[in-house]
Parts: sequence; C-alpha cells; structure tokens
Amino acid sequence: MHKRVEQASNRLPVHPSTLFFPSSGSERDNQRWENVASIANSSHIFLRWFLNQPTSASLPKRKAGVGFLFNRSMIMESRMAQRLDFFAGRVAMLATMHRKEQAIAPLLNSHLGVNVAVPAAFDTDTFGTFTGDVKRPSDQLTTARLKAAAVLRQTGESLAVASEGSFGPHPQIPFVACDRELVLLIDRTHQLEIVGECLSTDTNYRSQVIHSSADALAFAESVGFPRHGLVVKGGEAEQILEKGITDADQLLALVEQALSQSPHRAVRLETDMRALYNPTRMTVIAQATEDLVRAIAVSCPSCRCPGFSSIKQFPGLPCSLCGTPTLLTLSRLYRCQRCQFEQRLPGDHGFSAADPSYCPYCNP
Ligand SMILES: [Zn+2]
Ligand SMILES: [Zn+2]
Repeated sequence: MHKRVEQASNRLPVHPSTLFFPSSGSERDNQRWENVASIANSSHIFLRWFLNQPTSASLPKRKAGVGFLFNRSMIMESRMAQRLDFFAGRVAMLATMHRKEQAIAPLLNSHLGVNVAVPAAFDTDTFGTFTGDVKRPSDQLTTARLKAAAVLRQTGESLAVASEGSFGPHPQIPFVACDRELVLLIDRTHQLEIVGECLSTDTNYRSQVIHSSADALAFAESVGFPRHGLVVKGGEAEQILEKGITDADQLLALVEQALSQSPHRAVRLETDMRALYNPTRMTVIAQATEDLVRAIAVSCPSCRCPGFSSIKQFPGLPCSLCGTPTLLTLSRLYRCQRCQFEQRLPGDHGFSAADPSYCPYCNP
C-alpha cells in the first residue's frame, strides 16, 4: 500500500552535542556522553553544574536562530534516561511527495525506532506551493498540522509527521535570506503534538529577472545549478513555464523561447525550493528533524511523558556589567501536554547574565 523507507540498522542514543555542534563522534566522545548522561540522572545536578559555567564568551559558535535549542539539549541530557518510550516500533506516516523521507526517516528510525512510511498518493501541493500558484492555506505550523491530519485520515494510522518550510528575510538580519523549517509529529494514540524547528541562513532562495542566455547561466551558476533545480516564469503574468529544471540545455531552450516571446525580452528565473530539487533545503529539514528528536527526548519531570516543551519565553537576562535587563531570554515556561505540569527553567543560554554587547545601556 505504501512505500517503506529504508531504515538505518543501528539505534543510537540521542547525542545533542554531535547533533548541534558537530564533534568528532569518536569512541571517546561517545563514552564521555554516556558518562555525562548517567551522572546527570538527576536534572538538578546537571543544571546546577551548567549554571556555574563561565559566560557566553566561551560558548561554541552556533548557527543563527537556533539558540533556544542549546538549552533544550541541556535539559534533555538530564532527562532522556527517564522518558517513557511512546514511539519505538511504530509506523509514522510522512506527509510528503517531495522525498523528504531522505532527510527525516533515518533520524526518526535511528533515534526513536520509528519506521517512516510515505503514502502512495498524497498531494501536498493542495497545501500551497513555493512558486505561488497555490496559496498556503494558513501559517506554517497550522499548515503542517493540516497535512498531518490529512495523511492520518487517508491512511487510518495514529502517528504522522509533516514538514513545512518558509523562506524570506531573516527576522534579525533583514537583508539576509533564511529558511525556516518545521517538522511536526502528531501522535493520536497519546494525544501529543511535538515540533522541531530550524532557522538557517544556509539557503539559495532567489528570484531574478534576466534578459539573455548569458544572464540565465550566470544566475544558474550562482545558485548551485544543476544540483539545485530552477523554475522559469514568463509572459505578462509571469506564469510558470517549467519547474524542476536540472538540465542546462533544457534551461537555455526555455529561456530562449520565453525571451523571444517577451516584448521586453524579460524572463524570471527562480530557485526551485521543493526539497527534492534543493539539497540545501533538505539539509535544513534534517536539522529541524534533529531538533524534533531533541524535543521528544525532553520528558515531563512529573509523568515522564516525552515532549516537555517551552510554551512561553520571558526576556530580561541582566547585563553582566550593569545589570540592566536585555532582550535575551531570562527563562522559559515548560508545560507537559499530558499532565499539565509546569516548570520555569533558565533561558536560551542557561547563563545568569548577558554579554554587555546585548545591553541597551552599555551598548546603545
Ligand atoms: Zn506530565
Ligand atoms: Zn549593561
């Protein structure tokens, strides 16, 4: 009925430091991780140790926008040994027609023991397209929920995964393009919804009007063609002439034809952002899946339900020089979806003070 995705053979414990800050992954690292996990069996011991670490100057460099995950991984280290396993051996239906299983399935299988399957005929284009011909019905998270619900309806299964990407200016650096990827897991058996996220500036998201074949080739080269696919738009309304182009001869033939039919000799080229035509995006989807795995691994201190997630953040981390509250996160409120237990934990960096460069008084 549906295609079973090839699985990774061995299951590994989730290792946040390798997921986030790539390390050697050596035998010694793995051993050290196992030691940390056992020592940190009590969350209090681990958090107390973490809060006593030096300030953010010594933090490893992180990709923009994924700061909150660091704290999540730290909490996870203390709790993962205690969580209930809700997912091992189950089948998760993945709502995709763009081969996202390549990025998502190996991670869910190796870390959770979940077997990912893709339904035979599932049309995700009805939930919006990047080329703009079909509008997305709602915001990113709601659209992912709609996809997950549709795939569960279609297959009658109880576990679904859906992913949704969004491209645009970076929220903090408006002149830089970014890719925000969400990967959502819905479990109808346990009434759970858990979200993984990655905001990355590593994207070739671009669109440009060109006036010659030479322009077209220059654009193609600048966005990683032919490993990355292209879209050609032409005519008064810039309708799609072709998408998923990965062949230079086909690209040039389409561009020549469109230029000859355009009164202003103008044709629009765009990067094809569908995952199967965009390996850079596929990598960011994998990073969002890693975040989902981490989110699942944080368990409720009260009932051990997986996916103990932040529902609210509180800014105001004080400046380390003058004590003025900054916009950096002071703490986050976590809530269990099963028993509603709530806990407030230190914010994004887990530190008690902010670097003065974030201070509105010291660095106005
Ligand atoms: Zn709970
Ligand atoms: Zn200050």
